[in-house]
Amino acid sequence: MSKLFRRWGSLHAKLLRTILASFVAGIAVAAVILLFVVNNITRTNMIDGLSVTAKIIANRSAASLIFIDQQSAKANLASTKGRQSIEHLCLYDAVGFLFAGFSTNNIELLCEETTTPVSDVSVSSLAGKILVVIPVIEQSELLGHLTLEANTRNLEKDQRVLSAILLLSLFVSLIVAYILGSRLVKRSLVPLEALYNTSSIIAKNTLSEERAEKISNDEVGRLVDVFNLMLNNLASENKALIYSETRFRTLSENAPIGVFLKNEKGEYEYTNSRWSEITGLDSSNSDSFTSFIDGEDRGKYKIAMDSVLECVHTEVIEYRFQNPNIGSRMLMEYMTPVDDHVGRKCFIGSLLDVTELKVAQFELEKLAFYDPLTQLPNRRFFRDHLELAIVRAQKEGKKIAMYMTDLDDFKKVNDSLGHDVGDELLIKIANRLRGTLFEGDVVSRMGGDEFMILLDDVEDPTRLDSASQRLIEALQATVTSGTQSVQVSGSVGMAIYPTDACTPDELIRFADMALYNAKELGGNHVSYYSHELDLKIKARVRLEQKLRQALIEEKLEVYIQPQYHAQTRKLIWGEALVRWRDREDGMISPEMFIHLAEETGLIYQVGDFVFDRVLVLLSENGEQLSALGMQGIAVNLSAKQFYAPKFAEVIAGKFKAAGVEPSLIEFEITESMVMDDIDDAISVMESLRRLGCRLSIDDFGTGYSSLSYLKRFPITSLKIDRSFIKDIPEDKNDIEISCAIIALAHSLGLSVVAEGVETDEQANLLASYDCEFLQGFYFDRPMPISELLERAGKG
Ligand code: C2E
Ligand code: CA
Ligand code: CA
Repeated sequence: MSKLFRRWGSLHAKLLRTILASFVAGIAVAAVILLFVVNNITRTNMIDGLSVTAKIIANRSAASLIFIDQQSAKANLASTKGRQSIEHLCLYDAVGFLFAGFSTNNIELLCEETTTPVSDVSVSSLAGKILVVIPVIEQSELLGHLTLEANTRNLEKDQRVLSAILLLSLFVSLIVAYILGSRLVKRSLVPLEALYNTSSIIAKNTLSEERAEKISNDEVGRLVDVFNLMLNNLASENKALIYSETRFRTLSENAPIGVFLKNEKGEYEYTNSRWSEITGLDSSNSDSFTSFIDGEDRGKYKIAMDSVLECVHTEVIEYRFQNPNIGSRMLMEYMTPVDDHVGRKCFIGSLLDVTELKVAQFELEKLAFYDPLTQLPNRRFFRDHLELAIVRAQKEGKKIAMYMTDLDDFKKVNDSLGHDVGDELLIKIANRLRGTLFEGDVVSRMGGDEFMILLDDVEDPTRLDSASQRLIEALQATVTSGTQSVQVSGSVGMAIYPTDACTPDELIRFADMALYNAKELGGNHVSYYSHELDLKIKARVRLEQKLRQALIEEKLEVYIQPQYHAQTRKLIWGEALVRWRDREDGMISPEMFIHLAEETGLIYQVGDFVFDRVLVLLSENGEQLSALGMQGIAVNLSAKQFYAPKFAEVIAGKFKAAGVEPSLIEFEITESMVMDDIDDAISVMESLRRLGCRLSIDDFGTGYSSLSYLKRFPITSLKIDRSFIKDIPEDKNDIEISCAIIALAHSLGLSVVAEGVETDEQANLLASYDCEFLQGFYFDRPMPISELLERAGKG
């Protein structure tokens, strides 16, 4: 049926139908016209014939009417016998009475008995009949009239025959037209058919190389050309598309990021393999994607999707994704709206696993603001927080307190128990400090063993005291490792906003000053910033500036205090002691500025100055010194100098440059200096000894006096501290200590120097205890070099 319909509806059928319809219409019109014309002509001919016959009969009937001869009239009428079409002839007289009648072919005569007289000829045709009425006139006198009635049967019969002939010829021509038309249409449709076949092949396989054959050069031929050109263009576009698609796929499959295409409902239509790796899902379960998004982030994800569609823009969203196959990950998704080939809204995008990045970022943030060891906020965080706290306190008219703490002897823990124990201690202290705080307070690690604490609202002064107490207690601990244990305590300095300082920097600085003061007081101490402290610190600052200036202006001097042989009382050695004579303040004691110089680093310059001066003395005035019996000079070293990188090398260079024998120098170091890092200290000592210098421990007896360490030190002598000498002989304890030190030194093969000898009695006693050398005001005060040389001159 459909085939039939298709054929019925085909162009072929349509064309054929049109041709046939036009043909039939043409022929039909021609036939109708022909029929009409032929009919008209025959009818006219017939009427003319009947009129002529009626006229002849009428003429012949005149005599019969004049002579009222009905017989002849009848005969006359009957003369028409044989004329098949004539049916009735009726002759009426002048008044309209029937005179005679005649009917042919044995038909019953149908003449009216009377009629109205007629003077004009008339012809009328009615329902298959023709009626001719003609007056009978003789010499202008109306004698009567004749009616002749004829049937048109013959006429109609002719017509029917003609129609049949026409119909037949129409039918024959139709068949001929069909055959010819069909052939014509078929022939002209061949190229179109070919076009159709090619199109069918291309429709099934767009990549087919098939092209339409050009059969003619007519319009269809041109259509074939354009069609083939179009196919070629399509083919090359297709190839480009396939190439682009292949490229995209390769790119996407090898991309280090997840790539996807999903529809409006969130159903995935394409995902690359990296996407599957990231999500742990594949095409079979990709549509359950959102159910793996962390519950808290799911809403956010939905909003982002809606926003992409509504606002037609790219959204970037980060969310947590939990798939048991891959664990908990942090993903970052870029979504861009696109229309697909059928105009549906879709999302195209990429997916990144940013878990490691986030962790790194988090770690980085932590590093930036937190101390990795104690997990406390670091200095930077604290500084920012302090700034905010000050702004808030200012607004609310509140006070805040800033504490700064520092462990006393932390270095000792590190050195004697190891850095791991030191770290553990810091963590412990950090936790304890944290435990002392209230809400709003902050503790942070400054670095090393220093902590800063900010108390938020300290209107009540008792709170400050109790906080200070709690902090001091938190800093006290006993650290044990193996058999060794070290007792630690801490110092605390405090300053208050806005009483003491108004800016974060000032507040930190003042708390630091107070801490410094607490340390100065011996540690395990709380010190509040005060005006006096400020003055003290300002004085210190002033002193520091003056010392700098003094170094620039070379206002320092070196004095020498001789040392004597206890037995012979002969000058044998000397100690170089620095002196500073200030224009305003007069002579400033080394006790006042050496410590400051150590803290500020100026000690390097001071130390260099003293050592260089001593070298000059030795190289230039060697003879005078020998004359005095001075075999060498002791030089005091501070910890910073001693631990300075390549100290021994620098010293060696100086000896060489000055041409001085290193054996002429003894370096004095203190126990506290070397106990901080024994191994390091021993290596420096050894390198100094290798140069040929002597080494002594100064102020011996005030520090550790540990035999076990002393044994390892490559030293040449001990100097008994002045504090043990000054009360000899009254203080028996001091005598015992001095004797013990002398015995200890001798047992280690070291010589002993007693310093601070002020009396003859002391000198004699020490000599009797076998102390080799004596130094003190009893013999000489420290003197300017000039004075010493003068003495040599006096010899
Ligand atoms: P020190 O090394 O113990 O030096 C001995 C100190 O005792 C000197 O004080 C000296 O003047 C003093 N003195 C000597 N005999 C007596 C005495 O019989 N009675 C009393 N009461 N004192 C006596 P000075 O010169 O004031 O030096 C103090 C400290 O300053 C020194 O103690 C030393 O530690 C340090 N110092 C001095 N000069 C230098 C130096 O050039 N470099 C370094 N690093 N420190 C130095
Ligand atoms: Ca000394
Ligand atoms: Ca000393």
